Amino acid sequence: MTPLEFLKQQSGNVERALSETLRYDYGPSPTREYYRECCDRLERIKEAIKTTRESDLYKIQARLDELSGLSVWISLIERSRLGEFSWPFAEALRKMAETLLADTNLLGSSTPPIVHIVSDGEGYLIHYEGTSPSSKNKFAFIAFPKPLKHHVLLHSLFGHELGHTALHTVGAGTILQKKVMSALQSHGPLSNAAAMTAWLHDNNAPQEIKIELRQYEALNPGVTYRMNDFYLLSWIDEFICDLFGLILFGPGFAAAHKFYLSPTHPNPYEFAPATDPTHPPYAMRDRLIVKAIQLLGWDKPVTSQSPVRQAEQELLNYIHHDSFAAWCTLLSDAQLQTAIDGIQEVFARYGQLGYVAPTDNSLTKLVLQLQKRLPPIIAELGPLGEPILSDTSISHTLYAGWIYSLGHKHLTTEPLSFLQANMLCDQALLQQRAIAIAILKKMK
Ligand SMILES: [Zn+2]
Repeated sequence: MTPLEFLKQQSGNVERALSETLRYDYGPSPTREYYRECCDRLERIKEAIKTTRESDLYKIQARLDELSGLSVWISLIERSRLGEFSWPFAEALRKMAETLLADTNLLGSSTPPIVHIVSDGEGYLIHYEGTSPSSKNKFAFIAFPKPLKHHVLLHSLFGHELGHTALHTVGAGTILQKKVMSALQSHGPLSNAAAMTAWLHDNNAPQEIKIELRQYEALNPGVTYRMNDFYLLSWIDEFICDLFGLILFGPGFAAAHKFYLSPTHPNPYEFAPATDPTHPPYAMRDRLIVKAIQLLGWDKPVTSQSPVRQAEQELLNYIHHDSFAAWCTLLSDAQLQTAIDGIQEVFARYGQLGYVAPTDNSLTKLVLQLQKRLPPIIAELGPLGEPILSDTSISHTLYAGWIYSLGHKHLTTEPLSFLQANMLCDQALLQQRAIAIAILKKMK
């Protein structure tokens, strides 16, 4: 078989794989857009194959590469079967991604990416295509971890992942780099690699850091550990994305961050200098979130009535528990405030996103629903028995879920399990979608 014959065969194989995906139980309409974009891309490759000569081995290789790239996207269709992830959470995330990651052309019109949602065996992930081979729509895919499919309270961690993708966009990314990144780098240990190297070797660094550096030096005799620019930048990215998630989802993000990450960091100061230090020590990330919450004023309870207030305080104590060394504070309050302002500017400009604290009354109602083992929504009847519909933001549902999960000892003697509380919150998000549709119809 000649290389060109092989190429033609591969093109047929990819086409078959694409048509086979039609048997899957798709999610709502956006999956069809995704499918159409895959078809468009395949057509372009097939057209190019028609004019590819037998002797042009480099062109043949380029088309084969395009086909294999396309088959990766096609394989993702199979992983987006309904029921494998929280559909209402995924829909909310899709809307956020479409506004934050949209491309604006020179004429000012914006093209949102085609957001595809899958469930996967790994952790929370969002991937965003840098360029589109069809020059039309870019793909973004959001992967939910399959084992956590019911754990909506942890899904706010997607806020961090959205930050990573937003950093690389022209619109939101430019503000993040100009305002937020520059605030973090304006002075102190994040300002350059030499400053971070000095910080790691500082006398006040925790014993664990000193041990890690000694271990590094034992493995590399005569070499003192130096931070390099690449890793420092990836640490800065991680800090920005933590702030991004926090300001997007509020205190529920901080709870999920601690709940999900602290068990995997028995040594909170570990940063793997000898291998691949892409992430800063967990303790530094936790400190940044705790400080930011204080500056944002989210460290005080919203509710005033007993016993919900005690339950909320219990959650806030959990979020604010911080016994790490003073050395973990890398930014001044002024630097952190400028960074917060920059992220809030992104949210104000792109889709009016961002956490706004609930009222005492509505948060109390949401938590009391969970106390009654009901989904946390606000559904009441008016004097004539007519339903009073109110829109509850996703982050308020999550906050109520966390208050119940960590503060239930103040609310009940027979608490729901963490999984059950999560499932009720997931149910609430679904009901909330129906309420939002009903409110929209009423307004028309
Ligand atoms: Zn990250």
